[in-house]
Amino acid sequence: MPRVDELFAEMYAMLVDEAARAGLAVSARDGYRTFQEQASVLKRRGQFGRGGTAAPVGRSYHNYGFALDVAITPARWDRFGAIAEGLGFRWGGRFSKREPWHIDLGSFLTIDEARDIFDRAYLREV
Ligand SMILES: [Zn+2]
Repeated sequence: MPRVDELFAEMYAMLVDEAARAGLAVSARDGYRTFQEQASVLKRRGQFGRGGTAAPVGRSYHNYGFALDVAITPARWDRFGAIAEGLGFRWGGRFSKREPWHIDLGSFLTIDEARDIFDRAYLREV
């Protein structure tokens, strides 16, 4: 089960509810990543040149529990993005290299703030 910070987990629960009311089933795929896991993601994406981008180790919201990659059914990503942004998430569908499955709290936390407040003790399964 992916893990995220408890603040993120509460916002994500609202997102799942609102998406369900719009007919979208959302499931969490990838949340908190250790630096080592981030290095693997970078290596994998670099090797195959697909599957979106990955931030350098320590510079991803995934490294502090403030990002989540999801799957949705049906794949109405624009609808999902509108709901996510309405709740205050930053949506990866607007990144220059689109990652519509990605949401994070970059809308109100800088990566340095995310690093400073990160505490493994507050990670929750989603
Ligand atoms: Zn992501």
